[in-house]
Amino acid sequence: MQTQVLPVNEQSIALAAQLLRRGELVALPTETVYGIAADARNPEAVKKIFAAKGRPQDNPLIVHIAGMEMLAGIVSAVPERARRLAAAFWPGPLTMVLPRGPEVADVTCAGLDTVGVRMPSHPVVQAVIRASGVAFAAPSANLSGKPSPTNAADTLADMDGRLPLILDGGDSAVGVESTVVSLAGEHPMLLRPGYITREQMEDVLGEEVLVSHAILEKLRPGETARSPGMKYKHYAPKAEVTILRGSWAHYQAYLADHAGPGVFALCFAGEGARLPVPAIEYGAEGDGAAQAHRLFTALRELDKAGARVVYARCPASSGVSMAGYNRLLRAAAFRVVEV
Ligand code: AMP
Ligand code: MG
Repeated sequence: MQTQVLPVNEQSIALAAQLLRRGELVALPTETVYGIAADARNPEAVKKIFAAKGRPQDNPLIVHIAGMEMLAGIVSAVPERARRLAAAFWPGPLTMVLPRGPEVADVTCAGLDTVGVRMPSHPVVQAVIRASGVAFAAPSANLSGKPSPTNAADTLADMDGRLPLILDGGDSAVGVESTVVSLAGEHPMLLRPGYITREQMEDVLGEEVLVSHAILEKLRPGETARSPGMKYKHYAPKAEVTILRGSWAHYQAYLADHAGPGVFALCFAGEGARLPVPAIEYGAEGDGAAQAHRLFTALRELDKAGARVVYARCPASSGVSMAGYNRLLRAAAFRVVEV
């Protein structure tokens, strides 16, 4: 299959809409990362997403809508908590897990009785949803297990020959996937951290949002994940990544001891020049949003630079920083060393 990369304009949006209505795939920019869209109601279309990504069939997809009226048939109820979070954060990088409606294809939700829905704010996704009239399932546009792409070039690197069209809408502003919160249980529960924080949701809801322990810990053998995506190895570059938790001085000293061929640092902005090994930077210390924006691109840059062993500076684990920390932990297969 030939993959076209087109700039965003009226013609390319019309083509994307036509492909989606025909049950084909389209890769496109969102404010979080680039996604691969297919009609969420059409099982044959959605199966093509799993094939293009090499994604395990038991990992459910998020359904994207452009207005509250599109929830009809997709979810079976809109709880009060969902209305409040939608009023505060939609359109935006927040996915809510809700009771599933009758029209979503089984394969979209991996057979669960819930469905993740999101109303993205990116004007290109909104335009494609409006032009096609299709609520689409859209996971990140990477091959399964690789870092999510945040621009059209990284999307093409993974998806060339696997789908007909990539819309190039520039860099994704947020850089990590949406926050996922479950509103299908007794208490709201954070399943994946993102740009919208637990603390922001607690302010709106006036109650505690529980945190799924799979966010910051490895699942125990035999345990089932509340968010099936949590059990997979994720975001992994080719290099072996280890997170070093401790002060800047201890980090520097550790790298001085461990320098060698193929050894790289993944450090905060402005630190690289003061290290004894080649370094890729990923946002200033303490700036969780800047770290999230850079992290996946930085992981891909490490691959391109030929890194074999990477020592990463450890971000904070609350607020927006939790999003980057959660992804970095998976990229590092949970290897954390106290220095
Ligand atoms: P991605 O599409 O790659 O951004 O991944 C979607 C994430 O949302 C995965 O981690 C899924 O496990 C999670 N997710 C999607 N739908 C549901 C659902 N119905 N229940 C729990 N988690 C979900
Ligand atoms: Mg993904």
